Amino acid sequence: MQFSDIQSQEKTIDILQKMVEGDRIPHALLFTGPQGSGKALLALALANYILCTNKGKDRCGVCGPCLKANKIIHPDLHFVYPVIKKDGKQRAETLSADFIKEWREFIQGNPYGTLENWMNFLNSQTQPNINRKECTEIIKKMGLHSFESDFKILYIWNAESLGKEGNSLLKLIEEPPEKTVIILIAEKLDAVLGTIQSRCQIIHVGPLSDAAVHAQLDAYELTEDKKQEIVHIAEGNMNAAIALVEDTKETVSTEILDWFRIAYKNDPVQLVQWVNAISSIGKPAQKRFLSYGLFFMKEYLKLLYTSDFSNARLSAEEKATAEKMARIIDTHKTEDIAAMLEENLGYLARNANSKIVFMEMSLQLEKIMKSKVEQLIN
Ligand SMILES: [Zn+2]
Repeated sequence: MQFSDIQSQEKTIDILQKMVEGDRIPHALLFTGPQGSGKALLALALANYILCTNKGKDRCGVCGPCLKANKIIHPDLHFVYPVIKKDGKQRAETLSADFIKEWREFIQGNPYGTLENWMNFLNSQTQPNINRKECTEIIKKMGLHSFESDFKILYIWNAESLGKEGNSLLKLIEEPPEKTVIILIAEKLDAVLGTIQSRCQIIHVGPLSDAAVHAQLDAYELTEDKKQEIVHIAEGNMNAAIALVEDTKETVSTEILDWFRIAYKNDPVQLVQWVNAISSIGKPAQKRFLSYGLFFMKEYLKLLYTSDFSNARLSAEEKATAEKMARIIDTHKTEDIAAMLEENLGYLARNANSKIVFMEMSLQLEKIMKSKVEQLIN
C-alpha cells in the first residue's frame, strides 16, 4: 500500500503528500470515484503514509507501522465496512470486527472490489450494511488513546452503507479528537448522506489510464492481444479488468479439460473436428490456449506436490478441473505435458502448421495420459 504502486493518479497523490508533509491533513476525507479507479487503494496508501515513522515522499515500507499497516493489523488503523449477520450472533450485535479475517483477505486480494464483490465473497444474499451498534463503537474507539502511533485513523469503506445511523457520527466527523483522521470511501457520492459529505474534504479519483490497466495485467498469464482487448473493454476500471481475466481463465480451463478428454478417448472423428476447430481460431488465440495450458499445468503440479487444493493461484472452476484431473494425471505425466506444451508453443511461434501441431500434440497427450503411473521413487 504505497503511492508508488499506484499509476496514473499522480495529481491526487501529489495533493495527499503535500497535506501530510505540510501537517495539513484534514480531519475527514471522502475518497470518491468510479468503480475500479483505485480509491480504496489510494486511501490505504494515505493511511499507511500517515502511520509510517520514517517517511519520505512515500511510506518507507520497512518500519514496524508500515509492516503492520501492510498486513491490515495496525492497532491504530480501524476499519469499518458493511457486514451481514455473523453465525451465532444477532445482526444488531454483529460488527465489522467480526469479519476482519474475511475483510483482510478480500481487500488484499482485490482492493478494487465493489460492494457486490464483497457480498459474493461473503457468499451472502442479503445486502450488508453498517449498523447502529457499529456507529456507537466507532465513537467509543475514537475517544480512546491511540496504541502505537501518534495518529488514529478510521477507514470507512463503502460509506454509502451508512444509513441514517450515520448521522450519529456527524459530531465525530466534524470535530474528531486530536490526531484523528477519518477516511471514507464511496463509489457513488450522491448516495452518501449529505450531512457527511459537507463535513469532509472530497477527494475525486478519476478512472485509471489505459496504460495503468495494461501494466497491472502483466501480473496475469495473458497474451498481448488479450491484454489489449481487456484494456479496451475495461475503460480504466481495474475491477472490470480483473473480472475479465477471471472469465478468460475459466473458459480456457474448461477448454483444456475438454481437449484432454477428447485426446484420451481417441475417437478419430471427434479428434479431427477438434483439431479443425482450434486451427481456425488464429495463431494468437492458439498461443493463448497453450500458454494458459502451461500455466495451468504448472499450478496443477504445485497442487499435486502439496495436496493442498485450497492454496493455488487458481479460480474455483480451475480447482474443480484440477481435482478431476488428479485421478488420471500424476506428477510425471504433468511434467511431460508441460514440456510438450512449451515445446509446441515454440513451434507455433515459428509458424509451424497449426493443424499438424495440434494433431500431433493430441496423440502425444493420449500416450502420456495412458502411460503407466510411474513410481515416485526409482
Ligand atoms: Zn514506514
